[in-house]
Amino acid sequence: MESTVTIPLLKDHHSHPLFYSAFTHAISLNAVQDKRMAEDILSHSFENQTGGLTVAHGWRSNHYHWSQAEIERMPPLAVFNVSLHSLIINRGGMNFLRLKYGDVVNQIADPIWYENNLRVVLNWFANLYASRENLSRFFVQLKDIGIHYLEEMLLVDENEIRIFEDCNLLNRTRFWSAPDTFHSLSPEAKTQVHGLKLFTDGAIGSESAALHRPFLGGEGTNRGMLIYSDSELASTIDHCLETEKSLAIHAIGDRAIEQTVSTLKQLTPRLARAPEIRIEHAQLITEEQARVAIDLGIKLCMQPNFSSDSSNYADRLDQAYCIGNNPFRMLIDKVGYTPGENLILGSDGMPHGIESAAHHSFFPKLPSQQISIPEFIAAYCLDDFSMGSINLKLDESMKTIKYDILSIERESTGNKGEMRID
Ligand SMILES: [Zn+2]
Repeated sequence: MESTVTIPLLKDHHSHPLFYSAFTHAISLNAVQDKRMAEDILSHSFENQTGGLTVAHGWRSNHYHWSQAEIERMPPLAVFNVSLHSLIINRGGMNFLRLKYGDVVNQIADPIWYENNLRVVLNWFANLYASRENLSRFFVQLKDIGIHYLEEMLLVDENEIRIFEDCNLLNRTRFWSAPDTFHSLSPEAKTQVHGLKLFTDGAIGSESAALHRPFLGGEGTNRGMLIYSDSELASTIDHCLETEKSLAIHAIGDRAIEQTVSTLKQLTPRLARAPEIRIEHAQLITEEQARVAIDLGIKLCMQPNFSSDSSNYADRLDQAYCIGNNPFRMLIDKVGYTPGENLILGSDGMPHGIESAAHHSFFPKLPSQQISIPEFIAAYCLDDFSMGSINLKLDESMKTIKYDILSIERESTGNKGEMRID
């Protein structure tokens, strides 16, 4: 059975546009499932590389690995895990980065340092290749895959705001920033930041999400990592609240979500200082945690893309975690989360665009992860069709999606809006 529906362009509530725009020329391994194919793609790039650094992203650690010795035999190379929460880099790659950022680069190989300094490392790479041309080109590409607006969850520095301004793109994003980045900004730039962003754990792909029950691999003792102790998190959030900005807290594992929710509860009277408080990802949230969170007025910003972690990471997550991942039906039907109000959706760029968003929302592996079309429109789309529309053709039996995108640029000519169709 085929059905057709027209929806507004996407409003992606979680991405890293400057970082991804810097990588429009980087190698994507997103669709690659075996090592030989990954090496083929990389070697192609090595041939064209003259004294630079080859950067790749989208490495899927559930499908293949390289030993350090294998990596050292390659030209300067850095490969990001699909989650961005781990990185393979060889000595040549580190030498390249050290020229610009100094000896602190040496610590990049330490996974705990890496997780604690993820933002710093992503900023290094963003700053290597970020430019006005790349950002403008990236936003044109986003239109082609149905995205009009996307939130910047990790402002790199004040210069990023200027780049967006120069590209005339301030109305297609809003900025979230780490507390130390925020404090380094001029008073004027601070007013342009919507909120502050914290990390409380890592990710599933890098086995650093903080879980109550251990990851299956290795000795079966790894429960991931919390970035803060309970008291550190309380005082960090408290400092954030002082700025009276909104707050977005990355928490993927149930142990990190537990820590986040109970810390916020403890700070209850002061939470009102923040216009909005969100938990980012919340993949392994339990019903009990969700009930506390909704009572505290906490929004959830989740990624339908990550519903596939239930099968992709069955090698490392126990069955109950796989079944409980991205429990949209529980959140909406049992706990009362309302799409578009306190439940919003985004991609984290893994990958961007309507195809993956629609596929994982409408045809997920588990019925508990299903999102209806009206829910999707409320949580993942612009409020109206003024910027354009996406025509979706859904084939329920084949589980396939076809789409056409119609983008409208509105040029202001006095009171009358003149429409130009791209
Ligand atoms: Zn992110």
